[in-house]
Amino acid sequence: MYDVIVIGGGPAGLQAALTIGRMHRTVLLLDSGEYRNATVEHAHNLLTNDGRDPAELRRIARAELAAYATVEVRTTAVTAVGGSLGDFAVTTADGVAHARRLVLATGMRDELPAVPGLAEQWGRRVAQCPFCHGHEFAGQRVGIVIEGEHAGMIERMLRPVVASAFLASPADVAEVAEVDGALELRLADGSVERVAGVFTAATATQRAPFAEQLGCGILPGGGVEIDPLGRTTTPGVYAGGDMAHLAALPGPMVSLAAAIASGQLAGASAVRDDIMA
Ligand SMILES: Cc1cc2nc3c(=O)[nH]c(=O)nc-3n(C[C@H](O)[C@H](O)[C@H](O)COP(=O)(O)OP(=O)(O)OC[C@H]3O[C@@H](n4cnc5c(N)ncnc54)[C@H](O)[C@@H]3O)c2cc1C
Repeated sequence: MYDVIVIGGGPAGLQAALTIGRMHRTVLLLDSGEYRNATVEHAHNLLTNDGRDPAELRRIARAELAAYATVEVRTTAVTAVGGSLGDFAVTTADGVAHARRLVLATGMRDELPAVPGLAEQWGRRVAQCPFCHGHEFAGQRVGIVIEGEHAGMIERMLRPVVASAFLASPADVAEVAEVDGALELRLADGSVERVAGVFTAATATQRAPFAEQLGCGILPGGGVEIDPLGRTTTPGVYAGGDMAHLAALPGPMVSLAAAIASGQLAGASAVRDDIMA
């Protein structure tokens, strides 16, 4: 029986495990190796690590966790979760592990607009967050391949950063291709726009079904509802990172720093609630 099982080994889950391990509680972290930013080589907007490869961040985090005797990390997929506060059962290929509390940090999965070539550039020359990837296109022309009003908002955000922006609906773009260190937007009408990078909007859904299976409340946007202390609506189940959403905020705060912060909160709340029980 572990004190806590953390499902997810991205920044939220890693931070939750560190927080719990530093309090000498037993914690098992399970990580299937499917990260939302898997294609990214340079992540930005993270203090002291601006531009760092996220894989390197995860490697450093795991090395730091190895210093704590009560923290165990396994690279394996969780296939089922059951039970309730005091005895949750988590199934992997290794068998069933038990914990009094659970932290869910299983992240989100992105579906990109169906434009050929877009997915191949995702996290490289194609992104969706101007805070994360706007500065890298400073002074250059970018494409904004987004349907509807959101395109205008991204354009206004990027205005002081880039030289110019070309706006198109995904339906108007026949193909995105990398040519000589830039992208060509080959449009359905036969014309071609050359841009340094493209901003688009992905549709995000929960990567894992466990929150729903455990009866956790889900907000209309698809995020798992958490309170200001990272608690879901199911007793003993906490959530952090991109999958979790504080109802008072307009949406999930999708960034490495926000994932780390909410993972810390979820881990600390699990420890705190355990002593208050
Ligand atoms: C293209 C792109 C670029 C980005 N660039 C930046 C950037 O520059 N700066 C920035 O701050 N943010 C950036 N982000 C956002 C940032 O990557 C995310 O906010 C952050 O990774 C979320 O962390 P997380 O821990 O919530 O989820 P993830 O990092 O997605 O981790 C989810 C974890 O859950 C695990 N998991 C899921 N299902 C199971 C299962 N069944 N069993 C076991 N484990 C499971 C996965 O294996 C993984 O370990 C970017 C995102 C994208 C998509």
